[in-house]
Amino acid sequence: MDQTTADANGRVLIIGAGFSGLLMGIKLREAGITDFVICEKGDSVGGTWRDNTYPGVGCDIPSQQYCYSFALNPDWSHRFSPGDEIRRYLEDVADRFHLRSHLRFNSPVVATEWTGNDWNVTLASGERLRAAIVVAATGVLHQPAYPNIPGLDQFAGPVVHTARWKPETPLDGMRVGVIGTGTSAAQVVPAIAGRVSHLTVFQRTPNWILSVANPAISGWWRALNRRVPLLMRWSHALHFQFQTRTWSEALVGNSPFTLWVVEQLARSALRSVRDPELRRRLTPQYRPGCKRIVFSNRYYPALQRPNVSLADEAITGITPNGVHTADGQHHPLDVLILATGFRSHEYVRPMRVTGADGIDLDDLWAERPIVWRSIAVPRMPNFFFVVGPYSPIANQSVVQVAEWQVGAVMPLIRRALEERVAISPTDGATAQYMTDLLHAAKRTVWSSGCQSWFLGKDGVPELYSRSPFRHRAELAERPRWSDYDIRPLTDFH
Ligand code: NAP
Repeated sequence: MDQTTADANGRVLIIGAGFSGLLMGIKLREAGITDFVICEKGDSVGGTWRDNTYPGVGCDIPSQQYCYSFALNPDWSHRFSPGDEIRRYLEDVADRFHLRSHLRFNSPVVATEWTGNDWNVTLASGERLRAAIVVAATGVLHQPAYPNIPGLDQFAGPVVHTARWKPETPLDGMRVGVIGTGTSAAQVVPAIAGRVSHLTVFQRTPNWILSVANPAISGWWRALNRRVPLLMRWSHALHFQFQTRTWSEALVGNSPFTLWVVEQLARSALRSVRDPELRRRLTPQYRPGCKRIVFSNRYYPALQRPNVSLADEAITGITPNGVHTADGQHHPLDVLILATGFRSHEYVRPMRVTGADGIDLDDLWAERPIVWRSIAVPRMPNFFFVVGPYSPIANQSVVQVAEWQVGAVMPLIRRALEERVAISPTDGATAQYMTDLLHAAKRTVWSSGCQSWFLGKDGVPELYSRSPFRHRAELAERPRWSDYDIRPLTDFH
């Protein structure tokens, strides 16, 4: 307690300054709660859009859906925004909504412990903060996954993960290898194929790809949106309805026709690969949507360039100057790019969270994450998540999901602060919620037989397995207080 810095405390402590954390701050201010702090491990806002700066990085969700509904942006340059434009949007949001004075950069939280009355939060520096309420807005895809390939540490040239891109990585005229064929790879490959002398793409599993163009948004349309903001609001609402009724419902098993259409479109994109042998090697053996679909009209053309080759035999080892594959080939390389994704099941970890009666979140989640409506956990009083486990992030804009969840967290925070109580969901309500969700998971396309970052260690998708409309409706309900354990606090911060 002696190390606690009084002036840095906030009644609410938000962890993370990406889309979710900034949103939480905006809504707290709107509610007149200004005593909060946002602890961010990095040196600026933006979350994933600060961390991912690889060539070609961008969003594959339409720009108008990938911003706050209350801060629509008439100035997006493209239908799908480049990563840096989204990062600048978030910087601008931090200014416009007066969040700067609440932000603490370079402040990773390493532990948070419930004292019986409030949270004792420890930063990596050893500094301690006290908070009545903690909101974890740490995101899902923030810890890069490094492959465990023999010899990786022996590679003589630069090795860089897409999510930790180094701008000085040499590309021009180099022999470059990209390991992985997910969304990050599908963006980086076309962006660098024209610069390198040779590019080898190491594919373990092919992905289904939908050919989607990314046109620039014309100046006159941007000007019109600026003058008539109602146009953006309509477009946002219409797109949400269309996407949720078709795509989102299809992935949770509610619209087989849409899935059939998606499969026809993906097969049609595949037919653009002229060489039948290459096409065969790029054809997935699972249902479209099981792994996350890649949206790109540039990936297949890039793979067909004369200086690009696909290596789809298993990688057996890495030497100082290349990669060995199971067919006995050695692929000589100067630079290695790891587009190998994220450790998507870490959530707040490695932060240590110790709740009521000394219970550790890791122990509580030993089998799988257990959450109430993705926003709270039993025995973790006044600890809330935004975009926690089992959120509908595979079939809905994560920004939209964060808005629904923050809307549901706000009444809990208000009651906790006003009545000086500790609130957590009951074991019973949470168990019932999880049983329903896990049962419904069997019907989703994510459970249809493939490996993906959606699946937990038991093979069950850690995603909201029902219609996103239902998630929205559950979160929009007034809290049913009988679902919560509510305890008065004696010594409230
Ligand atoms: P990812 O989809 O998990 O893809 C990782 C790739 O690396 C896969 O092809 C995987 O093969 C391969 N891989 C992993 N370990 C390997 C190993 N040891 N040997 C060979 N190959 C290996 O990761 P990501 O592309 O970074 O994308 C992750 C998610 O981030 C996306 O699904 C998306 O949600 C998000 N994202 C979004 C955008 C956007 O525009 N909104 C942009 C980038 C990323 P397997 O398939 O066989 O596992």
